[in-house]
Amino acid sequence: MTGYFSSPFPRRVSVGVDVGGVMVGGDAPVVVQSMTNTDTVDVDGTVAQIAALHKAGSELVRITVDRDESAAAVPRIRDRLLRLGIHVPLVGDFHYIGHKLLADHPACAEALAKYRINPGNVGFKDKKDKQFADIVEMAIRHDKPVRIGVNWGSLDQELLTRLMNENKAKGFPMTAQDVLREAIVQSAVLSARMAEEIGLGRNRIILSAKVSGVQDLIAVYAELAKRCDHALHLGLTEAGMGSKGIVASSASMGILLQQGIGDTIRISLTPEPGGDRTREVQVAQELLQTMGFRQFVPIVAACPGCGRTTSTVFQELAQTIQEDIRRNMPVWRTKYPGVEQLKVAVMGCIVNGPGESKHADIGISLPGTGETPAAPVFIDGEKAATLRGPNIAADFEKMVADYIEN
Ligand code: SF4
Repeated sequence: MTGYFSSPFPRRVSVGVDVGGVMVGGDAPVVVQSMTNTDTVDVDGTVAQIAALHKAGSELVRITVDRDESAAAVPRIRDRLLRLGIHVPLVGDFHYIGHKLLADHPACAEALAKYRINPGNVGFKDKKDKQFADIVEMAIRHDKPVRIGVNWGSLDQELLTRLMNENKAKGFPMTAQDVLREAIVQSAVLSARMAEEIGLGRNRIILSAKVSGVQDLIAVYAELAKRCDHALHLGLTEAGMGSKGIVASSASMGILLQQGIGDTIRISLTPEPGGDRTREVQVAQELLQTMGFRQFVPIVAACPGCGRTTSTVFQELAQTIQEDIRRNMPVWRTKYPGVEQLKVAVMGCIVNGPGESKHADIGISLPGTGETPAAPVFIDGEKAATLRGPNIAADFEKMVADYIEN
């Protein structure tokens, strides 16, 4: 099958963390994760969404644990998933009262594979350190890793005020934005240090420092990567809807990944009302695959079309092939190891069609305007057939399926 490329830049060295059997950091490939948006108390709805996210390729799934009822639901969700044969590790997202919920619901603490805590809001100000320590101790007791997730929407205000005062005392050598970025980085690094002092192993800590600006994200993670060797979770928070969220996430995370920074990613897309939550998993996979870091599904290369194509046949065929592949991948992945490396080309005319098709494992060049109504098919670089007539699309779909199965 077609060879695949990898980044010419070395990966940042990080301490690997085992999250319920999925390695994050170290030598492990960059892990795709996602988060549910159901009320965790709704066990049926949450199980269904976790199953869908996992089927789409999410290797870890985070769920909100915000009150007693949701903490009580967590072990039931985990058990239901296991009965369905779904073994995806669950990450509990805790804010404010996580220390209480974990203490009061030991079955929840045990069912989760990782705890996510936000050092900016773990409890009330004067008790913050104690509440942070409580959660870390809980993680040690249950032998679970922790993601210390700083978010600039809930940044430790004491730390920020101190850094701003220091900047003022020195005559403002840093801009306000730089102080903010520094506060985010320091919050993550100092919290990790505190967790280590309490006794949490380095191989039990993942850090994240999420911001909503592309340049801020790149600057913050570049600095964080220099100051620690903890595994890093990348994510652009509040990335937004549709193409805006996809472009902003891909631009920022693509640059960091290219520099070898990032051990797990989440693409935080705001779904359209009633939209498909699994879209964020698909985008994360496509980002990693496009950049050559991982392979999840065969690539379908298709030309954009132009004035030489007067019908939408080739676009429809490319879309059908892509959908067929995604639908069949759960079976194909286990039946045909290496199938994800396949490249299929669907081209609109002879200008670039035969050339691109020859570079694919299997490719078709459909006839453009004024061309002979024949579609040469290339397999492994050689012309294998010429399709004609009204069933070209169906015939090619069958050839792709045969190629994979044989
Ligand atoms: Fe246009 Fe042909 Fe190029 Fe496709 S391959 S973009 S149809 S010239």
